[in-house]
Amino acid sequence: MTSELPDTLTETARAFIAKQRGAYIDGEIVEGSGGELSTIDPSTGAVIATLRESDAAVVDRAVASAARAYAEEWRDLLPAKREALLHRLADLIEEHAHELSEYDALEGGKPIAYVEAVDLPLAVEQFRYYAGWPTKITGSVVPVSTPGAHVYTQKVPLGVVAAITPWNFPFCQAAIKLAPALAAGNTVVLKPSELTMFSSLRLAELAIEAGLPAGVVNVVVGTGATTGNELVRHPGVRKITFTGSDRTGRLLGSIAGENLIDASLELGGKNPHVIFADADIPKAAAYAATTAFFYSGQVCFSGSRILVERSALDEVVGVLEEHARALVLGAGLSTDTTMGPLSSAQHLEKVEGYLQAAAEGSGSIAFGGKRLPGAGYFLEPTALVGPADDESVVAEEIFGPVVVVQPFDTFEEAIERSNDTRFGLTAGVWTRDAGKAHRFAQSLDAGTVWVNTYADYNAAAPFGGMKDSGNGRDCGPEGLEKYLDTRTIWMSID
Ligand code: NAD
Repeated sequence: MTSELPDTLTETARAFIAKQRGAYIDGEIVEGSGGELSTIDPSTGAVIATLRESDAAVVDRAVASAARAYAEEWRDLLPAKREALLHRLADLIEEHAHELSEYDALEGGKPIAYVEAVDLPLAVEQFRYYAGWPTKITGSVVPVSTPGAHVYTQKVPLGVVAAITPWNFPFCQAAIKLAPALAAGNTVVLKPSELTMFSSLRLAELAIEAGLPAGVVNVVVGTGATTGNELVRHPGVRKITFTGSDRTGRLLGSIAGENLIDASLELGGKNPHVIFADADIPKAAAYAATTAFFYSGQVCFSGSRILVERSALDEVVGVLEEHARALVLGAGLSTDTTMGPLSSAQHLEKVEGYLQAAAEGSGSIAFGGKRLPGAGYFLEPTALVGPADDESVVAEEIFGPVVVVQPFDTFEEAIERSNDTRFGLTAGVWTRDAGKAHRFAQSLDAGTVWVNTYADYNAAAPFGGMKDSGNGRDCGPEGLEKYLDTRTIWMSID
């Protein structure tokens, strides 16, 4: 059931949304008898469509379909054939890039021009990079000290992977999970966020069109507490791969522990973006501004805590303000928009809660801080200057267009304060002194450190968090390894 859709939506996207009923399993739409699940346009608050949530029976069917496809079709497919199919899927994603971008722009409020220029190419890159792997997954010959023994290992897939993704990069995150899992020979049941479902459902349909056997990619839809919970606890699931909040990550890690399976957890961050006074300040400040407000700050690696050597503080705040004032707030589907709404009314309230807490603290609002009038979930880009390190606005991931800017005085202080956080996803550092840059980067407890740049991402470069930002890595060989198991074979050659 669809409601009033924006005029700018193409007929293709409109028709796809109109035919959705619920899950996509074994190459078919499966409605089931779960409760109603409505998806909302965050720029207006209007209902986009209402599907049926995948209940326990639908989840069971999805896992059974993935298990059958794993055993009968995908696990033993010749590596070169798996490679060709993943390349074909990448081709189809490229061909449908605009349509796929429409879904994330509509449901996620993401500016469509950015989705098409950033998210879609990143997703294609994932499929192309991992399409290169099936023919290169090798075991080893083991030099055991046992006479007459020939011992070797094989790298083998795990089976059915449950992939759980967040709303901030719906299509891109689905690709980041699916590409390595499929390349390794696993099959997948994907549960996208209940806020952003359509691009994942369309991806599953494109997988069939590309020639992947039915059941290799299945999608169930619903909230975390219902559908997600059924999926991660299902005894047929052999691996959980999750991107989302650390709160949910902890829960899924414990469920995986009970079931003696592995969980890869890509979680949040409160990322220090450090600017030394000897840096190219205009360039550093421009990057700081762009990466703080990109996608309304709803990005795990957002540079949301800017630490600036005291003498450069005013200049950096000035550039941030100039950038913020130039942003065009609007609906994701509008091509003029450069900053969209927050994802939901509940999330907007949460972000405003941080601003209310900050009002009692020691920082001051340099600009922004207000919600826009109207039914959409818009908040002005906002900077808070000078809050103390122990305030929630500094210590916690806000996940909104709110950046904190803090002065520092020494190199050692900048390291200590950058590491004084429970998170460890990313960090940035700007300085013209190469030695200082390396010393700083190598001292940080962060999965990724950018030096004189920020937010670069590539399928070949491992990405993931330390400390409360999770475990395991997406991308690169590490991103494949987590979807593989090891079989050791002993053979007597006496
Ligand atoms: P969330 O944890 O609320 O939800 C993420 C997904 O988990 C959703 O699909 C949700 O339905 C599902 N879920 C929730 N409870 C569940 C349960 N009990 N069982 C199974 N599934 C459950 O996170 P969110 O608000 O959707 O996403 C924002 C968070 O994601 C932020 O913290 C952000 O930093 C993080 N994130 C991290 C990365 C990364 O690569 N490290 C990338 C993007 C987003």
